[in-house]
Amino acid sequence: MTSKTIISVSNLAKKYGDFEAVKGISFEVFEGEIFGLLGPNGAGKSTTLEIMETLREKTGGTVLVDGIDLDKDPDSIKKIIGVQLQTSGYYPGLNLSELIELFSGLYNRSVNPLELLDTVNLRDKAKAKYKELSGGQKQRFSIATTLINQPKIIFLDEPTTGLDPQARRNLWELIKDIRSKGTTVIITTHYMDEAEVLCDRVAIIDSGKIIALDPPDRLIDRLVATGFERPKEVKKANLEDVFISLTGHDLRTEH
Ligand code: ADP
Ligand code: MG
Repeated sequence: MTSKTIISVSNLAKKYGDFEAVKGISFEVFEGEIFGLLGPNGAGKSTTLEIMETLREKTGGTVLVDGIDLDKDPDSIKKIIGVQLQTSGYYPGLNLSELIELFSGLYNRSVNPLELLDTVNLRDKAKAKYKELSGGQKQRFSIATTLINQPKIIFLDEPTTGLDPQARRNLWELIKDIRSKGTTVIITTHYMDEAEVLCDRVAIIDSGKIIALDPPDRLIDRLVATGFERPKEVKKANLEDVFISLTGHDLRTEH
């Protein structure tokens, strides 16, 4: 893979009052990759994401998105990124189709709601209200809204938290699909299994600092090289495998 940098973050810092939530972190995101920001609750993932999304002020450092300096031209950055909207923005009286039309208008784009809903497997819910959707469907809809302005980069903040195993897997497929069409994806998660299957590279953040940054495989190999060994698995499947195998993982089974 030839890696062209699409996001470049240097010495990014964020203070809330006296509290340093992000302590001078630097990293690059390559065009077309799925880049994971991993870390425990409170590590500074959302803060970092929201700064890149132009939604939160930084207190130090520089951020370049597709060559655009966040300090100079945040409006141009907004035009090329897709951001998950707060669910409070989903007017309760409107159905999914109408919501997409509303957001398209806000972005000044013309989008066919049914086609867009199709890409996230929600065409049959076009007339449903957001509150009538399952957890997984809500996440898929919210990912659809990030695609309205045909962005180069989308940001997903813990899109799978609280979802059941099928819904989580469906979302992984959707995210891989979006990336396969050329969109760069930045995702936060604290599920390591998810990062392992989904992310090309991950940055592990703890207390506002990046403590590791590499492809998951390389991080694992490095740990193994230190002599680390996991307790042997005695069975060839686990309870999640049982659950998935009993309940299926087809999109249609997700209610
Ligand atoms: P994460 O997304 O990794 O869970 P956050 O970026 O949300 O972490 O938060 C990082 C730290 O900054 C946490 O300690 C959090 O309590 C604090 N924090 C986040 N937002 C604010 C805010 N608006 N005011 C004060 N502290 C905040
Ligand atoms: Mg967060």
